Amino acid sequence: MEQSEALFPRHRLLGTHVCVSCIMHSPQLRNWERKAAENAKAYRRFLEKADRRQVLPRLPELHEEAFRHADCLSCANCCRNYSPRFKTPDIKRLSRALRMREGVFIETYLRLDEDGDYVVKSTPCPFLGADNRCSVYEERPSDCRRFPYTDEDVLLKRPAITLKNASFCPAVHWVLERLMAPGT
Ligand code: SF4
Ligand code: SF4
Repeated sequence: MEQSEALFPRHRLLGTHVCVSCIMHSPQLRNWERKAAENAKAYRRFLEKADRRQVLPRLPELHEEAFRHADCLSCANCCRNYSPRFKTPDIKRLSRALRMREGVFIETYLRLDEDGDYVVKSTPCPFLGADNRCSVYEERPSDCRRFPYTDEDVLLKRPAITLKNASFCPAVHWVLERLMAPGT
């Protein structure tokens, strides 16, 4: 799957910091990557048949719940492995913040992908710090702000993206598991 289309890092870096071991010891997120891989087909079936009227009202609460357990500062899977799209307003905002000319910003950090979108030249994202913090957090691209779409109808509208995101983002895995849980 095309990198820039599929994955839009990242939701947030703020909030309570939870260490990696806390994530590992959270019963629901222990071995979450293995569970997500095992349940990928079930996720696909769920997304194909999901009733928007039932699912969409639940997303805000599940989104908040997911990020009480999945901590971006202990993860950074999205920023490490994929690129957001850098739209024109993103480029203008970031180049201004970094006091660079737009052309220089593009030349330094970006390339055009097959869809004609600007994405980072290489991963991890050059703005990801060693501490997993985003060095341009306040000015980060819109895709980063919205990722992983667990509080948007994109979750249902773009099932291929949701499935891909569920393979590396514990928050997406969390929301899908909760939506699929019997009796919820
Ligand atoms: S992959 Fe998900 S949990 Fe991990 S940093 Fe990105 S948005 Fe946060
Ligand atoms: S700009 Fe920041 S939030 Fe977006 S991918 Fe890069 S490091 Fe992550």
